Amino acid sequence: MTWNKVATIMWAVANLCLGSWQAPASAQDQNPMLRENAAEKLSDHVYMLRGFPNVVIVVGKTATLIIDTGLGPRNGDVVARTAAALAKTTKLFLTTTHFHPEHAAGEGGFPKGTILVRARAQHEEMEQDNGATLSRFSIRRGGDAALLDSALLEGVKYRKPDVIFDKRYDLDLGGVHARLIWAGPAHTRGDTEVFVKEDRVLVTGDVIHNKYGPVFAASGITPRDWIRTIDALAQLHPKLIVPTHSLPGDGEDLIFAQRGFLVALDERAHALKAAGTSAIDAGTIINAEMKARYPDWELHSLSNAVARVYAE
Ligand SMILES: [Zn+2]
Repeated sequence: MTWNKVATIMWAVANLCLGSWQAPASAQDQNPMLRENAAEKLSDHVYMLRGFPNVVIVVGKTATLIIDTGLGPRNGDVVARTAAALAKTTKLFLTTTHFHPEHAAGEGGFPKGTILVRARAQHEEMEQDNGATLSRFSIRRGGDAALLDSALLEGVKYRKPDVIFDKRYDLDLGGVHARLIWAGPAHTRGDTEVFVKEDRVLVTGDVIHNKYGPVFAASGITPRDWIRTIDALAQLHPKLIVPTHSLPGDGEDLIFAQRGFLVALDERAHALKAAGTSAIDAGTIINAEMKARYPDWELHSLSNAVARVYAE
């Protein structure tokens, strides 16, 4: 394989979840192992295990819901044991915000009888991907880190969900209700969000973040698609938003900020397109402009998003 090919693959993989090489992931993100029993309480029923990624546990009187698995079965085991220590019963539901390995590849570490619920769009995206993202994932970092990632992912196979839903799936966990939502494409085609009704907490995966720029990981998704998905979620008026790779924040603030970023990106790309600037130059210009405009955000290359605006 030529260096160019290697560099291209590494670039693509780096852009999947973690962002570009220029903006290395935070120290917290460097460690793919989650810490057992380190969950923080966010609201009456919602706990977060902060890490790569943030894993959310919703505890009801009759059942528990876990959102995302961690990277590989060893992390899945850590998550499941952390949830068991908080849970009031052994009935356990699991869902994943999207199919990328740190969100979904730990399912094998969960106890038998865990009920896996997944959106149809995510299930289909995962089947189409057919393990390609999984096998690319462990080379996204160099040296020992890559070895650790590949060890964590060794032998991982995705199993079929127990429940597949189209747009929404309601869970009564006993005294608390969770709505699993597919609101449209954004970071991936199958992004799934979870709204915890009583606590007004919305778990947004990689769709709405906190000072962390959008990563356009799936082909064909434009900034306008992503904005439509956010607008659908905004109708829930969440009090707290919990993203998977950045810190929780005020619902209204994070929706406003993420939407504003995407609108600015979309408008600027259309303006440069109308002015006859090439797609490649527009990507370079917009990356620099957004960096200046959002100095305290962790940003990822927007060039592929710009190219999609040009292709619209
Ligand atoms: Zn991702």
